Amino acid sequence: MLGLGAMSMPASLFDELTAIVGAGALLRGDEELRVYDCDGYTLERSRPEVVLLPRSTREVAAIVRACNRHDVCFVPRGAGTGLSGGCLPIRAPVMIGFSRMNRVLAVDVANRTARVEAGVVNREVSARVAAHGLQYAPDPSSQPACTIGGNIAENSGGPHTLKYGVTTNHVLSVQLVRADGEVVELGGVADDGPGYDLRGVSIGAEGTFGLVTEATLRLVPLPEAYRTLLAVFDRVDDASAAVSAIIGRGIVPAALEMMDALMVEAVEAAYHFGFPKDADAVLIIEIDGLHAGLARQAERIETVCRERGAREVRVAADEAERALLWKSRKRAFGAVGRLAPNYCTQDGVVPRSKVPEILRTIRTIAAEQGLRVANVFHAGDGNIHPILLYDERDRREVDGVLVAGRKILEACVALGGSLTGEHGIGVEKMDLLPLLFGAADLELMRRVRRVFDPDLRSNPHKIFPADSAGIEVREPQRRAAL
Ligand SMILES: Cc1cc2nc3c(=O)[nH]c(=O)nc-3n(C[C@H](O)[C@H](O)[C@H](O)COP(=O)(O)OP(=O)(O)OC[C@H]3O[C@@H](n4cnc5c(N)ncnc54)[C@H](O)[C@@H]3O)c2cc1C
Repeated sequence: MLGLGAMSMPASLFDELTAIVGAGALLRGDEELRVYDCDGYTLERSRPEVVLLPRSTREVAAIVRACNRHDVCFVPRGAGTGLSGGCLPIRAPVMIGFSRMNRVLAVDVANRTARVEAGVVNREVSARVAAHGLQYAPDPSSQPACTIGGNIAENSGGPHTLKYGVTTNHVLSVQLVRADGEVVELGGVADDGPGYDLRGVSIGAEGTFGLVTEATLRLVPLPEAYRTLLAVFDRVDDASAAVSAIIGRGIVPAALEMMDALMVEAVEAAYHFGFPKDADAVLIIEIDGLHAGLARQAERIETVCRERGAREVRVAADEAERALLWKSRKRAFGAVGRLAPNYCTQDGVVPRSKVPEILRTIRTIAAEQGLRVANVFHAGDGNIHPILLYDERDRREVDGVLVAGRKILEACVALGGSLTGEHGIGVEKMDLLPLLFGAADLELMRRVRRVFDPDLRSNPHKIFPADSAGIEVREPQRRAAL
């Protein structure tokens, strides 16, 4: 039957896979597999039967062909930092991990491109090209760990994508091992190639089109100078209003991030930046570009913030202070561990002007479920990230998180927004897709998927609601059943 694949692996497939990658790159022991049973979305878990760590596109293609011969499905995994259960194996016994395909293969300074393997860590790319005055712009807060392959699969964003755009704006071509084992290159080094934009449609496919093994990335010049401001507000509504007002004045900062009171409390305890503990919200605003004119732009931003009720606006004094401010922001999720044993990060989008309304709604929904919620998010993009705090040993709280998550996303859609800004659909939001799309739209998307993967073998039972048949809900944690 199409799409279901074998539920478990035949012994002969283990032998074939061992011959392809070698025994040292095949994990099947219980202890070894334990770390692969979830990503950053820990409410659902599912363990593969085997994890393979190939070193080349040739090995990946051979794995895929072997799986096809045995009618076995597979799931790609980068660093497992995903927040929607995208790399959970659902009736896919074989997990293909990209941690050993982690090389920057070539840097072309004249054309400002880098050719990389899929498992290279995002931050490594910018580190490699910084000496040439270049950077890879998309900067998810997980960038010290997440991989380019995962970024491509999720079309990831980051604080600086307000100015620079998301992953799809910075990937020129993608090498894809299709689900039948054929290796194809989608896109090219020149902009706007002929034909349909298959590169574009494959970015954000969450591993359902096959496996990305290499990519050519666009590099952009490092800015000559930065100004990074911290604006402190006594009312979260005022901070939200300042976000719209800054952009309404024609200023597009490189980054415009917000943290609410609970988040500030956790971050201050962890990183000691000097955030005022009694603030209701803070904005981190960065502008970059040519040195000339930046000071004037920073003054304009300060004026807007004060007009909207900021009680204090500070400019980072030097690079060290800027780095600490960004460390506090980008490691904010880590600091949440101080607040509760578990947390679930939601990801939705609303039009920027609706940020005050959605923040009020989030607070109401969390209170109804008896949950605490912290917010740290890409305010300039209207991309909210409420972090629901809970204890997984408390069934009532787990249920509350699931209900609150759904209600928050329903509210985003009702306000004219969307179900995900950057973390993808994964297993988490499959059932919510009909909030945005009708049956005809969903069927059209399924047909696009089948162009790349007719037998639905690559990351099966993801994204589309009808494919959720393989998921079994067990309490207190939902577990995705193989
Ligand atoms: C602390 C923290 C902060 C975060 N901040 C951000 C942020 O600012 N912006 C943002 O967008 N996201 C953010 N994320 C989410 C996450 O880091 C991104 O979605 C990231 O792109 C996932 O990369 P990964 O390598 O960990 O992929 P994984 O989690 O391993 O996989 C993600 C998806 O990609 C697929 N996949 C992985 N590799 C491949 C491949 N080679 N070919 C095909 N499919 C593949 C998987 O099957 C899965 O569907 C954050 C997560 C954490 C934990």
